[in-house]
Amino acid sequence: MPTFTMVVLGSGGGPHESNMSGYLIKPSERSWTEGIIGVEAGSGLGALDLILERNPSIFDEESSEEPDSTDIQSAYDVYSSIRCFLVTHAHLDHVNGLILSAGSIGGPRKRIYAAHQTLKDIDSIFGGGRIWPNLASWKEQDDAYKLLYQALPYEPIYTSVGLDVSVRMMPLSHGFDEESGIYDSAAFFIKHDPSGREFLFFGDVEPDSISTRPQTIHVWRAAAAKIPHTLDAIFIECSWPSGRSDATLYGHLNPEHLVAELVILAKEVTQARQRGSSDAAATNGHSSNGRNGHGSKRVRKKQRLNSISEESLRGALAGVRVFITHCKADLEKAHTRPINHVIAEQVRVLADERGLGADIVAVDQGLLLDI
Ligand SMILES: [Zn+2]
Ligand SMILES: [Zn+2]
Repeated sequence: MPTFTMVVLGSGGGPHESNMSGYLIKPSERSWTEGIIGVEAGSGLGALDLILERNPSIFDEESSEEPDSTDIQSAYDVYSSIRCFLVTHAHLDHVNGLILSAGSIGGPRKRIYAAHQTLKDIDSIFGGGRIWPNLASWKEQDDAYKLLYQALPYEPIYTSVGLDVSVRMMPLSHGFDEESGIYDSAAFFIKHDPSGREFLFFGDVEPDSISTRPQTIHVWRAAAAKIPHTLDAIFIECSWPSGRSDATLYGHLNPEHLVAELVILAKEVTQARQRGSSDAAATNGHSSNGRNGHGSKRVRKKQRLNSISEESLRGALAGVRVFITHCKADLEKAHTRPINHVIAEQVRVLADERGLGADIVAVDQGLLLDI
C-alpha cells in the first residue's frame, strides 16, 4: 500500500528555469484539497500550469467519480493548497517558485521548513525588499506575511509538519567555496505518521569520497535498519552523466559516485541486518553475559565488518526504489534521449553490475507517483 502520492513539478537540476526541483506530496489517504506539502520549490506555478494543460485530471481524487466543485481546477488552486515547503538549501533552482508566487497565492499562511542558515539565505532575498518584496516573516503572529520561516533542527528527532507527516533533517555537504567554506544542503526523512513508513529525500550533495566533510554516511546509517520494510524509496540527485571528472562536479554526483554511495548504503544495510540477527540470537539466550559476553561481542563485531564481502551485498537493496533527480540539462544536445533517462540508465548498469538489487527510476516532470 502506498503511503504518499507525489506530483513532480520539476526534476531537473538547471539551468532550464522550466524544470527545476519541485515536488508536491500528500498522504495517500487524504485529498489534495486537504493540504499539500511542497518538497523543494524550484519550479512552481508556471510548471504546474503546463502540467495541468497536458494532464487536466492529475489532481482528481480517485474516489470522486463526478467532477466535484471542491476538486482542484487550476495551478492557482494547487499552489494555494500548499501548507508548507520543505527546502534543502536556498539555491535558486530550489526556491524560485516559492519566492515568485509569494505575492500571488491564496490559502493559509505557508511555513518554510529548513535549516536556520537556509532560511537566513532565503531572507537575504526577501529581507531587503529590493530583489523581491518582503513577503516572509520569522514571527508566528505576522499574519500579513504569506510565508513563515520555521527552522528545523539537525537533531535525531522528527518534527510534525502537519497533515500527519513528520520530518527529520540531516546535513549534507554540497561543495566548497573559497569564501564561504563548505556549503550545507540537507536530506529529509519524510514520515507518514499513521503507518510509520517513510521515504528519504536528498537535496544536492557531493560524494563523501571527495568531500572535506563527509556527511552522507550518517544519513545512510540512519536509514539502514529501516530498509526496506519502513523505508523503500530514496530520491537522490545525479546531476551529471558518466565520466564527469571529480574536479568539475561542483558539489554534485555522477553515476560512478552515486553507485559508490549506494554500495556504502548496501554495506550499512547488511551490517544492520547482521546486527539484528545477532541481537535476536542474544535475546533468545545464545549470548553469554559478563566479561566473556563483552569479549565475544567485540569478536563478533570484527567478524561482521570483515565478513561484508562483495557477495553479501548482492540484493542488499532489493525492494528499494532509487529515484534519480536533479539531472542537469543537456545543453549541447549530446544525447538523443532525455538526459535524465540517459543518466538513470548509466546508474542502473553500474548498480546492476554490483548486484545491489535496487530499482533505479528516472523521474520525469509531470509524473504522478505512488510512494
Ligand atoms: Zn540544485
Ligand atoms: Zn544546489
